[in-house]
Amino acid sequence: MSLIKGETGDWEVVLGLEVHAQVISDAKLFSGAPTTFGADPNTQVSLVDAAMPGMLPVINARCVEQAVRTGLGLNAKINLRSVFDRKNYFYADLPQGYQISQYKDPIVGEGAVEIDLEGGATKTIGIERLHLEQDAGKSLHDQHPSQTYVDLNRSGVALMEIVSRPDMRSADEAAAYLTKLRSIVRYLGTCDGNMDEGSMRCDVNVSVRKPGGELGTRCEIKNVNSIRFVKQAIEYESRRQVEVIEGGGKIMQETRLFDPGRGETRSLRSKEDAHDYRYFPDPDLPPLVLTQEFVDGIKATLPELPDARKARFIEEYGLTPYDAGVLVAEKETAAFFDTVAKGRDAREAVKLVTGDFFAMLNRRGDTIAQSPIKAEHLGKLLDLQADGTISGRIAKELFVAMEETGKDPAVLVEERGMRQVTDTGAIESAAKAVIDANPDKVAAYKAKPAMFGWFVGQVMKSTGGKANPRAVNETLKKLLDA
Ligand code: MN
Repeated sequence: MSLIKGETGDWEVVLGLEVHAQVISDAKLFSGAPTTFGADPNTQVSLVDAAMPGMLPVINARCVEQAVRTGLGLNAKINLRSVFDRKNYFYADLPQGYQISQYKDPIVGEGAVEIDLEGGATKTIGIERLHLEQDAGKSLHDQHPSQTYVDLNRSGVALMEIVSRPDMRSADEAAAYLTKLRSIVRYLGTCDGNMDEGSMRCDVNVSVRKPGGELGTRCEIKNVNSIRFVKQAIEYESRRQVEVIEGGGKIMQETRLFDPGRGETRSLRSKEDAHDYRYFPDPDLPPLVLTQEFVDGIKATLPELPDARKARFIEEYGLTPYDAGVLVAEKETAAFFDTVAKGRDAREAVKLVTGDFFAMLNRRGDTIAQSPIKAEHLGKLLDLQADGTISGRIAKELFVAMEETGKDPAVLVEERGMRQVTDTGAIESAAKAVIDANPDKVAAYKAKPAMFGWFVGQVMKSTGGKANPRAVNETLKKLLDA
């Protein structure tokens, strides 16, 4: 917990997050129109999405399955009976004049997410609910000098609104929660988590209070679209609230916007309450009733999730919680590491993957999928070093060659003659040649044994770095000290 220092003492920040996560599905929640990102405006709109008179919504089973899968991934209660309601409000990009959402009876109830904090600590954040609802269309204000256009491609796309309990106490905890939530939905394959494409958007509820005191009035910051902005918005907004209260003012319950350019939040409108929306059950949709077998069937196909995988990495490979946390954060990274480490020295595998390999990805701006070096090949590189085929120094060179060619390291070792020289005869003659050519250095070594390293360097150089370093050391010691 990080407290804010005010003029009247410390203040505690209380945060709850509402995340809208777009469901991965080929079709919309109540229509068969496609959901591809970035399509031309109004090319993915059915008569249902445009709210033509007489059109009826039909629930998309795939979206229901994805919501249940997400609920299970959040260790949450699945409600076998849920109800779709109409949430009434007017907006130019909402042709129905209401959003079909779930109000009193959501498809998913209470759950929990464990977040990872600095120094290996964890904290459990309560999930209040997850409900299914439609997204609205999009108003385009920048296409014409005096008119607004409406794009209905997004109209009716399925969203999961995931509501947390007000359990977070700092911007860092909120960031850790979002990071974990994104990681979980990506592992599950239920949302791609791409905040920059708007497929995960976050509303942040912020209030402040004296530590342990009564909850303060909250403000909701709408549609923040990156984790960095969420942190900035919380830091600005909590400080603003402390200043207002300490200045003798009151916090008004309102909806605010975060302006990334100025790094501040500003008032958008006074916050509406649920009763303002005149929710009522949608007469076009009967209650959604699931069977326990349906839920169990989905449960049986859940993948290993980040927490379980982290625990396994610590247990099976002896990793530190920190290393394990880094490696499981993204599903692809975890799978990559599994392949490299399986049956090998895990410590060496961690060093290589989090060291040279991550550095290469960063330098190239590549994702794991785009990496020129495949997991199988990186594993083989470790094998070649472990069985003495190559030296540590050659391994570095081989890594570069693998990046350049994408080839199997065993093939590269043969093609480029990188095999380590362990033949003591060859090393001995290389060592003798260096000693014979440098009598002055030999004399210097007799006076100053630290000179030894110079001889090692020369022999390694003359053998193109392929000599086994231990053999070089032993041979030189023997010859020089004779
Ligand atoms: Mn919503």
